[in-house]
Amino acid sequence: MNSNLIGILFPLVPLAFVLAVIYLYIRGGREVDEYGRTFLQGHSLADYARAHPESFRADGSFVRCHACGGRQFSATWTSKTKYGTHYSHVCRQCGIELWRTTL
Ligand SMILES: [Zn+2]
Repeated sequence: MNSNLIGILFPLVPLAFVLAVIYLYIRGGREVDEYGRTFLQGHSLADYARAHPESFRADGSFVRCHACGGRQFSATWTSKTKYGTHYSHVCRQCGIELWRTTL
């Protein structure tokens, strides 16, 4: 009885493995899609300027980091999705993320 059950279930092991791989592939794709789609939400340059108007001059140019007063930032490549290439703009003095862009 027990060996019959094993005989029935054992051929299903590769099938279960293939289904698990397909499931993880689809789920991973959805997570990447969600990440790319929402990358800028609440983190765009406009969002940062709205939250920290003191960090910019009247002409829109960057003056200083809201957290430490650092005057330089660098753009760091983070990822590429179907929505574009994503960058994080980080204060060079304290390392805090200031805003994000997608090109
Ligand atoms: Zn800073």
